[in-house]
Amino acid sequence: MTVETPSPTNTPERAAVAAGAQEWLETLQSWVRIPSVSADPDHHADVAASARFLAGELRAKGFPEVKVLDEGPWLPAVLAHWPSGDPAAVRVVVYGHHDVQPADGVERWTHPPFEPRIIDGILHGRGASDDKGNIAMHLLGLSAHLSATGRTAPAVDLTMLVEGEEESGSPHILELLQAYRSELDADLVVVSDTGIFGPETPSVCIGMRGLVAGEIHVHGPDIDLHSGSFGGAVPNPIAELSRILAALHDDDRHVAVTGFYDDVVDPTEAERAATAALPFDERAWISGPAASRVPAGEAGWTTLERVGARPTAEINGIWGGYTGPGNKTIVPTDAYAKLTFRLVGRQDPATIQKLVTDFVQATARPGVEVEIHWEGSGVAPLYVDTTHPATTATRRALGLAFDTDEVLMTREGGSGPEAELAGVIGAPLVFLGVMTDADQIHAPNESASVPLLLKGCEAVAHLWRELAELGRAGLE
Ligand SMILES: [Zn+2]
Repeated sequence: MTVETPSPTNTPERAAVAAGAQEWLETLQSWVRIPSVSADPDHHADVAASARFLAGELRAKGFPEVKVLDEGPWLPAVLAHWPSGDPAAVRVVVYGHHDVQPADGVERWTHPPFEPRIIDGILHGRGASDDKGNIAMHLLGLSAHLSATGRTAPAVDLTMLVEGEEESGSPHILELLQAYRSELDADLVVVSDTGIFGPETPSVCIGMRGLVAGEIHVHGPDIDLHSGSFGGAVPNPIAELSRILAALHDDDRHVAVTGFYDDVVDPTEAERAATAALPFDERAWISGPAASRVPAGEAGWTTLERVGARPTAEINGIWGGYTGPGNKTIVPTDAYAKLTFRLVGRQDPATIQKLVTDFVQATARPGVEVEIHWEGSGVAPLYVDTTHPATTATRRALGLAFDTDEVLMTREGGSGPEAELAGVIGAPLVFLGVMTDADQIHAPNESASVPLLLKGCEAVAHLWRELAELGRAGLE
């Protein structure tokens, strides 16, 4: 797991990042102030404003070609190019997103979500980390690269693609990529929307899980019935739904859907050993970011494996019948649940949707109508080639920024459009992001560590130099 890095301490990249930090932090805070919540139509004008803000910053940085992509079914995205001037240069597409998760439950925010401020080296605000902070790293990182190398254009052909609806599941990413495919020729895709293992333990992500999401609807009687006159004599849709949901896992918490594990690829013994060697404090994780009492998951696997290397079935919400004050003695008409499945290995979203649909129909008992509606076509899992020179270069770049030659490789439990990106662009993919569990992304009180963001900026600057040194031939 060790990569060779020269002793860094005071590189010109670090000095340039330090010199630009103050102004950059003000820019990032201005960006966080724009509530670009893609899930909420009331905020779609803000998503557009956020795209224009980023486009303006990229132009100010020197990108000669910058456009806001706002003619299509997607929410505004930003596409920018800065050629290196060398026709043989490595071509890189950087991907991330400028939309943010909703900030609902404002009363649970210690600091208002869209009034960013820095307290004790922590930038508070929705998007501070996911993903404005991690995309903004490319602004200062690029300046640092130019100033450290004395260049007037980047040493790699740089394309930035920053979409505006990732937090809504990137519903149009395939169309967007296809519409602008001719401008996305690349030797490498760099995704900046992930994290590191911990503040003292930099790592690169080497895998993201796939995802399918659906909703089950169980319909019983056509009208709410008196539970005294009819209850016990007709099927109750909530009881039937509960039975189906309970059948999703066996007593060992394996997913019980027939065929579910057929295309799972188990981690190798070497990977299991490497995962077991990570400095992971399970107790601190459970009581800290996991905010739970005990670890619980599929038997035979560790907590880190459960959130990175194993597929899951999760029940996200359940409703139906009467939930108001007091009692209402009814047999209700309908029951609903929302489900998501995280996928790994070669699990195919369409196949999983079919297997789950079949399982639900086979488990349902006669007397109720059961429908399952899938949200879009889902996303496939993605794995990084850990032996690819670009992966090594990314680890070296992070190692330089963190003053260490120990840059780990970890899997993330989350999902994004990376498989589509790598597939459409047809290039290998690496992850460069510095989020940590402390950032509380998607939750109230999102924040980002300023020192970590600045290390991320520095890593960006190192990466462009490293890739230019490798050259296109070195990436094959
Ligand atoms: Zn994100």
